[in-house]
Amino acid sequence: MQTLPAPSTQSRYHFVRKRVDVCVCYAAMRLLLISSSNVHGYGYLDHAEPFILDFLGGRRRVAFIPFAAHDHARYTGVVRERMAKMNVEVLDADAIDGAEAIFTGGGNTFRLLKTLYERNLIGRIRELVRSGVFYMGSSAGTNIAGPTIKTTNDMPIVWPPSLDALGLVPFQINPHYLDPDPASTHRGETREERIREFHEENATPVVGLREGGMLRVEDAVVRLVGSSAARLFQRGQPPLEIQPGALLEL
Ligand code: ASP
Repeated sequence: MQTLPAPSTQSRYHFVRKRVDVCVCYAAMRLLLISSSNVHGYGYLDHAEPFILDFLGGRRRVAFIPFAAHDHARYTGVVRERMAKMNVEVLDADAIDGAEAIFTGGGNTFRLLKTLYERNLIGRIRELVRSGVFYMGSSAGTNIAGPTIKTTNDMPIVWPPSLDALGLVPFQINPHYLDPDPASTHRGETREERIREFHEENATPVVGLREGGMLRVEDAVVRLVGSSAARLFQRGQPPLEIQPGALLEL
């Protein structure tokens, strides 16, 4: 068996022709990165359901990663029950090798990343997704698709060995992105100010994904879907407002 080069996240398809009749193909990466599972006025995952079904196509076996929560069994049960209503079968996290898609749920991003490191799953998930297994994340599960978790909103309640994450996309995400309330008397930093601080120390672009917004990634093509506009923050530039349906030019 010929050794294949590591697939790059930049090019759309990777073909290695071994003999005239055999073509080993790397599939393009497919991701659905959801800002939040809960949106005001909807039940759990209700707003995302049509986008999840469209994204999955005919895929029906999804492994759920519950490690952002404390009680893995309970969290998996909730997601299993919800996804059964979509005719999607939810497998336990240790069955990722037999899954057509992986779904990582929200919760605390530090706890999620620490557990993925402890279980040696960072490289494994990255490898599976780069070889064509679909990836869905919500909130903390969306945070870890970026190069690091430095733009999470969470408290570091535990400490992972590194802040480096899956690096499936070349930009950071800030889920549950919140605009300042002009009537508020609160004096803490706004989300925009926190992201500006990130850019004082780091150059990676950040997508502020408001609740209701999702990014659909087809290899290097990134489209905002869902009901909310998003904000793109690039170092040294004014933030850009991205409308649903638009491509993100990064
Ligand atoms: N705690 C969030 C979640 O629901 C993640 C975040 O806000 O960064 O997973």
